[in-house]
Amino acid sequence: MMLGPAVIKQCFACSKPIKQNTILSGNTFGAKFWTDGKREAPMLPDQPWLVLCPHCHVSLWINELQPLGEGTPWCEWDSKFMDAFHYDLPSLDDYFSLLEQGIEESGKEQYLRLRAWWAGNDLRRNQETDIPMSAREASNLAVFATMLDESDADERVIKAEVMRELSCFDEASELLARAADEPMVEIIKSLIEKGDPYVRQIHFNETPTPKAPIKQFNVVMTRFGANRIGVIKAIRALTGLSPIAVKALVDNVPATVREGISLKEAVSIKNKLKEAGATIKLQRYLEA
Ligand SMILES: [Zn+2]
Repeated sequence: MMLGPAVIKQCFACSKPIKQNTILSGNTFGAKFWTDGKREAPMLPDQPWLVLCPHCHVSLWINELQPLGEGTPWCEWDSKFMDAFHYDLPSLDDYFSLLEQGIEESGKEQYLRLRAWWAGNDLRRNQETDIPMSAREASNLAVFATMLDESDADERVIKAEVMRELSCFDEASELLARAADEPMVEIIKSLIEKGDPYVRQIHFNETPTPKAPIKQFNVVMTRFGANRIGVIKAIRALTGLSPIAVKALVDNVPATVREGISLKEAVSIKNKLKEAGATIKLQRYLEA
């Protein structure tokens, strides 16, 4: 992942500076894809449209704010930008309260409803047990469905997924009956057949090779914990990466610290980073 210049924007409410990192290039290495369309890609972070001011917590459409300046991501800031913190992300409640206030532009309303859907589903991702949707989430989804254009092939598939998650399995399969024969459509169809209304992770090209021993692993940091500096030092010692690269990695968790290494080496790195306070998981390495 290559970071672009960090852009400094100004909050319209409190006038304080806010930092927006930009990304020049990334990839979907280690990414997780979900049936609701959300992608979690450590090497290609989400670029949200609606964010929260880190100072006064007002909601901001970040691309509508005037830039105050920009710099390389980790440079010494101009002293007037010293308190330029990175923006925060809205919670499920934030999206709902904005929707209750009413949004005039339908593009923005659609965005908020999509993000509210994803934020609600975030509680369901990577969970052992299935958590049913709240009434508030369901009514948001029902309105979101009306905003989707069935004549557009992609939106029709999204609408089918919305209907499946609302347990309207008949409507969902009707929408998919005319859909193209693509992996996503097949996955939603098989979930409909099982009567499964929950968001699910999509495993593209899942070809299990049970006989081949798994030799290659990735070390993924999911949290750096309270001792950020200690973790940065430990990663530098373990990887030989430059300070800039290590800081970018730490600031973009979950992030892959090392990839395609032996289990023994992966466990040793994991233990050292855990000692420094980071939360680490090992992941199977898949060649791109
Ligand atoms: Zn503010």
